[in-house]
Amino acid sequence: MKVTELLQAKKDPFFSFEILPPLKGKSIQSVFDILDPLMEFKPPFINVTYHRAEYTYKMMPGGYYRKVTTRKRPGTVSICASIMNRYKVEAVPHLTCGGFSIEETEDALVDLHYIGVTNVLALRGDALKSEKTFSPEPGGHSFASELVAQMKNMNNGIYLEGDLQNAYKTNFCIGVAGYPEMHFEAPNYKADLKHLKQKVDNGADFIVTQLFFDNQKFHQFVKDCRAEGINVPIIPGLKPLTKKAQLANLPKIFFVEFPEAFRKEIEACKDDAAVQQVGIEWSIQQCKDLIANGYNCLHYYTMGQTEVMTKIAKAVL
Ligand code: FAD
Repeated sequence: MKVTELLQAKKDPFFSFEILPPLKGKSIQSVFDILDPLMEFKPPFINVTYHRAEYTYKMMPGGYYRKVTTRKRPGTVSICASIMNRYKVEAVPHLTCGGFSIEETEDALVDLHYIGVTNVLALRGDALKSEKTFSPEPGGHSFASELVAQMKNMNNGIYLEGDLQNAYKTNFCIGVAGYPEMHFEAPNYKADLKHLKQKVDNGADFIVTQLFFDNQKFHQFVKDCRAEGINVPIIPGLKPLTKKAQLANLPKIFFVEFPEAFRKEIEACKDDAAVQQVGIEWSIQQCKDLIANGYNCLHYYTMGQTEVMTKIAKAVL
């Protein structure tokens, strides 16, 4: 079922969860260990992030360095297949422009279609750690809007080899990322909204937001999207704060701000156990406000924190 259909069909509030593939060398059981306890809350879909290869330099015998490619978290597609098979829910793989030529993107989408994936979150991806700014793969997309357009073409039976006869029309429901506090590379908030509109105009069916702690920013973002003519569903992305160090880290990684009251409460905590308690309570209040404002789907970046998620879900659903 498409995410957009699920959003329409489900009248009661529900959670969707996002997980990372395990680090290479770990078993897929680590994914099940995170998700098994969360199935109690009947998430109708689970997102699986995509992690492209990074380049590093490895010292070889003789003392010289060789450039090697490593993927720390491979397996997005096969984890999606396992999730659909084990839990009978939709899996939503993330697919990035980074790391793919457009031909490789097409083949990845064919693979996803063959395993029964209907929903895909189309993203640009971040710059590699070795790069200052994002650079596309040779022959790859520069922006998520271009990936969306390619997916939309496949939904219309248009493949890169234009001479394919009676090519199958895929039926992807396409999600994209939205940023209530603006994407950090955008020249300004208004320009970022215009770029988001481009993604929707190219065929995106729904938006999942970057995590936020200030619901007012999310509400304003939705208003601004609607004023810009962005009329697809917007799913709020949430994450509980669990460590004091995140007060400094999260703004640097995700470019989000903390409401002053929340910041003060966290700063007053004597240890991380107390921070976790305040973080959970804040997240619960965020959920309650969002539900009261008509957002039935709450998307959680679980980051493997099953216990924390369970506490939040039990208090909210
Ligand atoms: P885009 O929509 O392409 O935008 C990127 C930047 O370019 C923005 O500043 C935008 O304003 C600007 N821009 C867009 N179009 C144009 C244009 N035509 N001209 C000039 N500027 C333009 N990363 C991963 O690697 N793997 C994941 O699994 C993953 N999952 C994510 C899930 C969610 C819900 C979110 C919010 C982010 C996720 N990310 C993931 C991070 C994401 O890849 C980064 O935030 C990335 O920097 C931007 O991706 P995007 O799809 O929003 O890019």
